[in-house]
Amino acid sequence: MKTISNLKRMQREAAHLKQLGKKIALVPTMGALHEGHLSLARLARRHGDVVVLSVYVNPKQFGPREDFTKYPRPFARDRRLAADNGVDILFAPGNLYADDASVTVSESVLSQGRCGAFRPGHFDGVATVVAKLFNLTRADAAIFGQKDAQQCDVLERMARDLNFPVEIVRAPIARDADGVARSSRNAYLSTAERQVAARFAAELGKSASVGDARWRLEKIAGLKLQYAEAANGRLCAAVWIGRTRLIDNVELKTQNPKRKTTTPKLKT
Ligand code: AMP
Repeated sequence: MKTISNLKRMQREAAHLKQLGKKIALVPTMGALHEGHLSLARLARRHGDVVVLSVYVNPKQFGPREDFTKYPRPFARDRRLAADNGVDILFAPGNLYADDASVTVSESVLSQGRCGAFRPGHFDGVATVVAKLFNLTRADAAIFGQKDAQQCDVLERMARDLNFPVEIVRAPIARDADGVARSSRNAYLSTAERQVAARFAAELGKSASVGDARWRLEKIAGLKLQYAEAANGRLCAAVWIGRTRLIDNVELKTQNPKRKTTTPKLKT
């Protein structure tokens, strides 16, 4: 596995791979790798000849009172896990932005509601960094986790509307044995909070509608419901457990899914 931190070197490497006719599959992450990320890396192998996994804690997607500075950064461990899971290039830039950067990518419909209602600017930060990563790595395919369902919706729309020649692949949610969706932020939970997180996953999984989810989640002691909303056929929720914010989503099975946010394909 090669480790690249220099932007120009990444671009040269990508151009070289393209010349050789290789298909590049990208897995963007913020590091603190866990089984969720690693399942994306393994899936990436099926979508490209060369798997690039990026590790970059993107300051532009954190709000002023969010956990940017305390976000875990176990780089040596990340390197080892990436190498053990078939990653060919670990792209770990120190900084992706010019000091006077003044161009951003903004999505104005699918980024509203759900997490977008509580994290102003978050999805612009995500769309901007992913657009930059697409250009730096020249990805043919990019793998994103369904865990961040709204992120998938926004990035599919960005790829369509800005004509990125990238196939967006949604990977299933990886869960721990207690049902909790894997997340780097799970590391913040105490043992008691972890049990609350397991109830969150279990009750969301049993929910048949938005109303049912709200009713079930609001009953859980030690959990503060931020939102429960349906979008694109998924029932999505965010909760606070102590000082940790967790998100999760499940397929909306028993009711007619509201499909109004689905990105229609352009006729060509
Ligand atoms: P992050 O490092 O949190 O930005 O996540 C990087 C990528 O991993 C995103 O596409 C996430 O959706 C995905 N991811 C994170 N957790 C999981 C999970 N439990 N299952 C599947 N994908 C995940």
